[in-house]
Amino acid sequence: MKLVIFGPPSAGKGTQAQKLSKKYNIPQIATGDLLREHVAKKTPIGIKVKEILDQGKLGPDELIVQMIKDRVSQPDCKNGYLLDGFPRTMNQAKHLEKMADVDVVLNIGVDTELLVGRAVGRRICPKCASVYHVDFNPPKKEGICDKCGSQLIQRDDDKEETVRKRLNVYREQTEPLIEYYRKKGKLVDIDGSLGIDGVFEQMVRAVSRLNLG
Ligand code: AMP
Repeated sequence: MKLVIFGPPSAGKGTQAQKLSKKYNIPQIATGDLLREHVAKKTPIGIKVKEILDQGKLGPDELIVQMIKDRVSQPDCKNGYLLDGFPRTMNQAKHLEKMADVDVVLNIGVDTELLVGRAVGRRICPKCASVYHVDFNPPKKEGICDKCGSQLIQRDDDKEETVRKRLNVYREQTEPLIEYYRKKGKLVDIDGSLGIDGVFEQMVRAVSRLNLG
């Protein structure tokens, strides 16, 4: 099973990807998380992309594609995987096509004005990558990860100005992929305004309609 979760920044891709990954027992491959890990560890890749991430721009295609190639060749991906945050450009989509035949692209549609509020209230766990929201999905104890007890943080790129930039980047570079996958018959539209469980149910229904024989 090879799934792609698609949608604008803060549409809830990461939250849904975690739930789907658990339900179908396939790894979640989140390019944003992989890049943030590099930044935190100050690897050569991390040093190269830190500023790009902070500015809300996209990382270089070659680097991102190589990172995905390495990741999907790991043994835990042999029964499938879920891509969260990849592809984000037409060039990346073309590379993915050579690499794998994806079963479905789940496209979360949300009113963009809602997205700014979602992003600004988002908190993440730097240790286990769990995602929370101060109003919509708060942790049991304020500021602390339910799963691993670490102190939650706000992503640098979740500041309002950067969120608006990321939305523009999405519109220009990523949104065109919706029609690309629609034409291929791979796209399923998901209503992203329905809350975490409502969105998840639509995704599970879409996956159950796939003929994965
Ligand atoms: P995300 O956590 O998916 O919102 O990603 C955070 C940031 O990582 C993005 O704003 C980009 O700077 C970078 N990034 C993540 N995925 C990609 C990708 N597929 N291509 C280029 N840059 C990416």
